[in-house]
Amino acid sequence: MNVRERSPLNRYDFSRMVNMWETLVLEVIADMIERNEMCSCHDCVLDTCALALNSLPSRYWILGSYDAFSPPESFTEDSMNVRLAEEAVLKAYRLVQANPHH
Ligand SMILES: [Zn+2]
Repeated sequence: MNVRERSPLNRYDFSRMVNMWETLVLEVIADMIERNEMCSCHDCVLDTCALALNSLPSRYWILGSYDAFSPPESFTEDSMNVRLAEEAVLKAYRLVQANPHH
């Protein structure tokens, strides 16, 4: 059971709470799969995603409330953040490739 479905947490919209690195990492992985630059099997994609995210600091935002002050794009479109996400995914995928679970 998802703990978010448990009372009293089920009255809150946790879908608005996102780790911004997850957005960037998933975009990098989607691009790599489309360009056939990585194995697209379930194990490799999820392992790479988890490893990459574990190597990056958590960066949670609450979408909606403060968008006017700090739009999410200011994080996801920052070229330094995009580059850090790409490096994290490439490093993670190298580890997965060396010891794939597929
Ligand atoms: Zn694979």
